Amino acid sequence: MIMDAAQGLREVKDRLAAAALAAGRNLADVTLIAVSKTFGPEAIVPVLAAGQTVFGENRVQEAKAKWPVLRQRYPAVRLHLIGPLQSNKAAEAVALFDALHTIDREKIAEAVAREMARQGRTPDLFVQVNTGDEAQKAGVALAAADGFIAACQSRFGPALRGLMCIPPVNEDPLPHFRLLAAMAARHGLAGLSMGMSGDFEAAIAAGASHVRVGSAIFGGRAALPHPAPR
Ligand SMILES: *Cc1c(COP(=O)(O)O)cnc(C)c1O
Repeated sequence: MIMDAAQGLREVKDRLAAAALAAGRNLADVTLIAVSKTFGPEAIVPVLAAGQTVFGENRVQEAKAKWPVLRQRYPAVRLHLIGPLQSNKAAEAVALFDALHTIDREKIAEAVAREMARQGRTPDLFVQVNTGDEAQKAGVALAAADGFIAACQSRFGPALRGLMCIPPVNEDPLPHFRLLAAMAARHGLAGLSMGMSGDFEAAIAAGASHVRVGSAIFGGRAALPHPAPR
């Protein structure tokens, strides 16, 4: 079933505006990332035609197969990688994406830094924090987060824009959003990538700079296979 994604985009923008108003925040300070993973051009093109320029994908290979052609028609597109990054994909990720949200360990930081230098490209970077310390989830563990963030700041300088989190599914996300916001503030980072279809209003209330919204725009996705454990 293909929902009308342009209609979904309008509804999400209305929710976004209402949430910014309720939080006393400027709408221009919240970037909507339309998460188009699993959807093909027939769903994405109407959203591009409606003026959306920022898109999120969670797999490097899928994005590489889909976006170069779309970008020829819509050169203003900005692509954000929101899914886990392996160091052997760092070269492709740095070449393709304008922002990487999932820097979560030394090996990835090092591979990304090497590719940025080699390619002369500077994507915006976010450190993913595992705010719920969930065993199966990506992101730097809470106890290691401050140290890792500081190390990324000295390595990347201003290219390190902020922090990202995915709260545990069955918990109130607000304490996780607040924890991430406090952590970013400690490090003087303005970027906060948090909030998805079900909870982006709460994320905006807690200070999100980037919300990552998929199903509320594009409709439901077929179930994805579980990611391999690391
Ligand atoms: C898929 C995904 C989203 C979007 O989720 P929805 O619930 O469909 O809005 C946001 N962030 C990440 C990291 C994702 O993988």
